[in-house]
Amino acid sequence: MVIVMKAGATDTEIDGVRQHVESCGARTYFTRDGGRAALACPNPPKPLLDTALAALPGVEATAPWGTPYRLASRQFAPPGGRTVIRFGDGPRATVGGPELLVIAGPCSVEESATLREAAWSVRHAGAGALRGGAFKPRTSPYAFQGLGVEGLRRLAEVRRETGLPVVTEVIDPRHVEVVAEHADVLQIGARNMQNTALLSEVARVRRPVLLKRGLSATITELLLAAEYVLSQGNPDVILCERGIRSFETAVRYTLDVAAIPVLRRESHLPVIVDPSHAAGRSDLVAPLALAAVAAGADGLIVEVHPRPEAAWSDGKQSLDLTQFGALMRSVRSIALAAGRTFAGPRADHPGVPSSARQVEGV
Ligand code: PEP
Ligand code: MN
Repeated sequence: MVIVMKAGATDTEIDGVRQHVESCGARTYFTRDGGRAALACPNPPKPLLDTALAALPGVEATAPWGTPYRLASRQFAPPGGRTVIRFGDGPRATVGGPELLVIAGPCSVEESATLREAAWSVRHAGAGALRGGAFKPRTSPYAFQGLGVEGLRRLAEVRRETGLPVVTEVIDPRHVEVVAEHADVLQIGARNMQNTALLSEVARVRRPVLLKRGLSATITELLLAAEYVLSQGNPDVILCERGIRSFETAVRYTLDVAAIPVLRRESHLPVIVDPSHAAGRSDLVAPLALAAVAAGADGLIVEVHPRPEAAWSDGKQSLDLTQFGALMRSVRSIALAAGRTFAGPRADHPGVPSSARQVEGV
């Protein structure tokens, strides 16, 4: 329920309504409705519904939520209309504001030297954060499952060296604490979008959550999964479209480009796109990435590897360093055309990167 206050309602009146609602055992969030003060109450208890709220001083009207998701809905947008999430402690990355964010790096954390090379290169090419999986949710139990805590250590070491904040996946509620100690953003993978125990656990840590859309999840289901995190105390959720299952076999998954404007219309949360897992092959990554930026995405998460043919996982869809550099230049043009800001490749970007140049960059 949303309790909309009269124009010019005083702080005392707003506080009186807040105290009344909270005395009934409900939580309130201050928000605005068409320029007027409002109190959002996502889960009103029955006694509250029965009270004559509208008769309290300063109250204009009460309205039910128009959508199954509540804190994730546009109705609950913060001042400014959109949630902007900042993370990292060096040059901090931002997502959800005017600037486009690109997160890039290998599918899995491998040798430190490979991770370091990828990190310096994507940083020079304009990426704002480093990705890399230490715990891998693989379809086959025989596939490489990730380096676990050792992978987290390698990520944290490269973060210290490059200043790039780290995004990594957590697949088990028991690992949330250790992943949060080493990483800046906790990724919930597509296969875990509806793992409510995991969602509740990441809601308890003070780290943004990158929530990937399930392989067969509707947009409403994605927003309700986000609602689990928001309603349990973590306001920083980044939504990620990564392709859904369809009858098409020419691509690994079908990128739902329409989900980008729909999510941005329905929710105030940042929306990013993973073209790599949708495409499943490197030659399709750039066109999908550019389509996503043109459609209004707040950012991209892209798999990049110095030698994709030798990658421990998802090499087929990984861009090499040269391909990523070229993509970032095109992303910049499309981002500017779409009304975004994006610095793109740094002035000292080596253009066609060689591994020697990247390490020298240290
Ligand atoms: C990944 O990011 O490496 C990954 C496994 O992604 P998804 O959960 O989208 O399949
Ligand atoms: Mn992958």
